[in-house]
Amino acid sequence: MQQFKAKILSNKKIAPDHYVLSFKPPKAAGQTTPGQFFNIRVSNAYNPLLRRPFGAHRISPEKIEILYKVVGKATSILSAKKKGSLLDIIGPLGNGFKAPPDASAAILVAGGHGVAPLHALAASLTAVPKVVALIGARTKTHVISENEFKGLGAKVHIATEDGSKGHKGLVTDLLRKHFNRQTGKPANRQTIYACGPKAMLKAVAKIAREHCIPCQVSLEEYVACGTGACLGCAVKTRSGYKLICKDGPVFDSKEIIW
Ligand SMILES: Cc1cc2nc3c(=O)[nH]c(=O)nc-3n(C[C@H](O)[C@H](O)[C@H](O)COP(=O)(O)OP(=O)(O)OC[C@H]3O[C@@H](n4cnc5c(N)ncnc54)[C@H](O)[C@@H]3O)c2cc1C
Repeated sequence: MQQFKAKILSNKKIAPDHYVLSFKPPKAAGQTTPGQFFNIRVSNAYNPLLRRPFGAHRISPEKIEILYKVVGKATSILSAKKKGSLLDIIGPLGNGFKAPPDASAAILVAGGHGVAPLHALAASLTAVPKVVALIGARTKTHVISENEFKGLGAKVHIATEDGSKGHKGLVTDLLRKHFNRQTGKPANRQTIYACGPKAMLKAVAKIAREHCIPCQVSLEEYVACGTGACLGCAVKTRSGYKLICKDGPVFDSKEIIW
């Protein structure tokens, strides 16, 4: 983890309210692993005072990308940043996804901008024979990263709430279908990786439990300092309170008391 100033290489709108920003990391930040995040100061003003956390979407030694949704003041300021301007960043932070070395399949479940860290994960799963990406969005214009996942060799299924693309309904319907198709077969060495709204993660955790599939979830609730100092992002787990920023943001779904 380090604090650094990074030049913005690009900052482009990719869908309604969604942007991808890339910056040049210093050497050590190039070691970022999927699921880790960067805490970004978007302005020198008092408001917003706190840094904002964003997961690594694409990772390379030359470039880190974040994918973000504009939801409030900080993300709105971020969306107006121009190529060449500087960002004050701390990272990479937290503990990311763990890929078992002998995995036969990875099921990625993304809700909305939850695709952000899962794309970096998919890119790292080169040794996993089967990668399935289940992407949930409000409408077809909000479906993000479909082609990028396909480009990585993943089998992609889409769910939209209004039915404008793919399955009409929730991404968790797709997850249920995925396992229902496997009835009678041993669910061998599969892992679910999920990122999205808490209600979605809770539903994913339940499906994983029912099918006895290991499941890792990336929690994206409020994080302030990002380094474990302020204790502001405590989450209740079976082994007491843990910090999203320091112990997570990725947790075993069985650990979380939903
Ligand atoms: C570890 C981690 C990784 C994250 N990665 C990403 C990412 O890759 N892409 C991305 O778009 N976002 C990500 N987020 C969420 C992102 O940090 C927030 O959306 C951002 O801080 C909002 O700042 P703001 O000032 O624009 O909005 P605010 O003005 O702070 O809030 C605007 C609205 O959004 C809600 N909100 C703000 N932050 C959160 C949150 N963390 N969870 C739920 N609701 C929230 C508020 O309740 C409010 O209604 C991540 C969060 C965490 C903890």
